[in-house]
Amino acid sequence: MKLLIPGPVSTQAAVRAAAALDYAPWDNDFRPLNVDIRARVLGVAGTDDTMHATLPLQGCGHFAMEAALRTFVPHGGRILIPATGAYADRAIRLAREIGCDVATLPVGETERADPAALEAALLADPTISHAVLVYSETGSGIIHDVPALAQAAARAGRRVIVDAVSAFGALPLSLRDLPMVDGVVFTANKCLEGLPGLAFVIGHIGRLVECQGRAGSWSFDLADIYQHALRVGWGSFRFTPPAQVMAAFQVALDLYQAEGGQPARLARYTENMGILYDGMRALGLRPYLPEAMQGPIVVNIHAPEHAAWSLQGFVDGVKSRGFVVSNFYNTKQPSFRVGCIGAISPADMRDAVAAMGATLAEMGIGQAKAA
Ligand SMILES: *Cc1c(COP(=O)(O)O)cnc(C)c1O
Repeated sequence: MKLLIPGPVSTQAAVRAAAALDYAPWDNDFRPLNVDIRARVLGVAGTDDTMHATLPLQGCGHFAMEAALRTFVPHGGRILIPATGAYADRAIRLAREIGCDVATLPVGETERADPAALEAALLADPTISHAVLVYSETGSGIIHDVPALAQAAARAGRRVIVDAVSAFGALPLSLRDLPMVDGVVFTANKCLEGLPGLAFVIGHIGRLVECQGRAGSWSFDLADIYQHALRVGWGSFRFTPPAQVMAAFQVALDLYQAEGGQPARLARYTENMGILYDGMRALGLRPYLPEAMQGPIVVNIHAPEHAAWSLQGFVDGVKSRGFVVSNFYNTKQPSFRVGCIGAISPADMRDAVAAMGATLAEMGIGQAKAA
């Protein structure tokens, strides 16, 4: 079964095999693994340990987002979030639940957030400390120009937190050139093609020092994770880590480098996206985004306006042919979504398009032709 969902993604067998062992996370034989993955993701982020520290956290991307918001935003502080879609909405809720005062910047569901509009909104409200930006909006599939948005925030004298969960490793990032960014959030199980259960924030060291003691949570305090690493070493973890997931992640990073790193991964995902996007149009379906806005991570396709359409029926039919797609709607108008990321080759994507065509034909829908 191949997963065509935007995380957790299909993984290679060698990644899963590394999780089939017992590990003692505090053992001297295991600690170098933690040191190694921390250093290597700094490289993926385009920075090094003179400016940034890797703060790993047990759990999912939301946990790391919560930790970043708690650590870097003053308690009860005001932040601005461009409302780009379903994942920006999640950041808005997360921030409100921890007591942030959240202002939103409206962004059309099929548009990119505008750096000039962000700058103007920040200048109009000097009480806002941070802009929180989603790099790849997994709801719509649009890639937002985070470097340009972060520069706009910096011109207004503000700090930035980046949700790069569905972008990291596939889209370019040069954190060295973005000193206004306090933290970048990502997980092991999206474009880096590891297993779920391990999240990261790459944090700005100067800010981690300034922000000590404000998280209001020991579990979600990135500044405490940083201090712990300084005291006990970069191979240490404060609480029981997902050791198997870390071991699998190290193998995933080996495979990432062997493939050619970020440019190669972006090229493969872009090719997958193109096959899917064109394949859906050939089946008579309408992608949600115009081609110029379509990012390489996830494609939404308008649900066919046909009496025989049922999302669950479609999902079940595609699954019986070897592929899993999402079984919920994430957009304002109903659309089904298909991920382009993970250990999926262009040949797999061609097979997936055929499976979707055969399913639609079986359902008796539209111009869809049996494959
Ligand atoms: C996947 C994702 C997250 C985090 O999801 P979790 O289920 O908490 O791991 C956050 N932001 C974006 C943009 C994502 O794609």
